[in-house]
Amino acid sequence: MGMFARTILLCLLLLCVSSCSRLPVNRKLASDPYTGGEASSTRFLWPEGKRAAVCLTFDDARPSQADVGIPILNEYGVRATFYVSPSRVPERLVAWKEVVAAGHEIGNHSMRHPCTGNFISTREKALEDYTLDQMAAELDQANAEIAKRLGVHAVTFAYPCGQKFVGRGRNVESYVPLVAERFLAGRGWRDEGANDPAFCDPAQLMGVEFDDLTFEQLKVLVDAAVEKGSWLVLCGHEIGTPGRQTTRADTLRTFCEYAQDPQNGLWVDTVANITHYVVEHRGDVSRGRVR
Ligand SMILES: [Zn+2]
Repeated sequence: MGMFARTILLCLLLLCVSSCSRLPVNRKLASDPYTGGEASSTRFLWPEGKRAAVCLTFDDARPSQADVGIPILNEYGVRATFYVSPSRVPERLVAWKEVVAAGHEIGNHSMRHPCTGNFISTREKALEDYTLDQMAAELDQANAEIAKRLGVHAVTFAYPCGQKFVGRGRNVESYVPLVAERFLAGRGWRDEGANDPAFCDPAQLMGVEFDDLTFEQLKVLVDAAVEKGSWLVLCGHEIGTPGRQTTRADTLRTFCEYAQDPQNGLWVDTVANITHYVVEHRGDVSRGRVR
């Protein structure tokens, strides 16, 4: 073999070694959904060679979660996060205590579930008429109620209706800082996609709707997360047969089976556990203080 051929071989070998080495953080090109072009982003490395993280979250302490969803999750040993409305916990009190014992997370979802008054059902508790002081008191009261009923301290929050403001017009204020002061993470709803763990603000995690999806539809979201190494946070409500705001039980079961196969590279865990890992492994200076 001539000198030229040997030099080429050496270069190829070095190229392979450098591209295969596992650095703590990898530079990788990721597709930008708005320009359709390629945007440079920092690829975050998940533990044990996992390629993406997924959180399953369910809101409002709806009884079908306890009756239908939790037995499926427990059968596969998959942990989820439940953002409970304290007033609904008594409807399945024993089941919610078992949920805690099984290692699932109980999160804060406010006391009164205030949303925009454009929804008639929330007109008398409209965010347009709220103040930050009212909201702060409500967040603390919900944590006290959760602690009293279930004996746990909620460390993450889900914004009711995914809305993050109080007031109107020039007097609108964000209540994200209140959430950042009190919780490790705050989860939105009906957001467009997954979170970039190297960049995202845990106080405003993007949450993607889980309700009504077939497994094939869900897999499109999961595959995109795996491709980018991102953190997909799914949000559901009822769990059962297809219907309004209902995560399909068959989709949940098929996902649990899929997530159990190590070859699929998913880390499925609670919002609290994944947030802890993310903030500890990226030197995040914007993390929220936990009381
Ligand atoms: Zn809700």
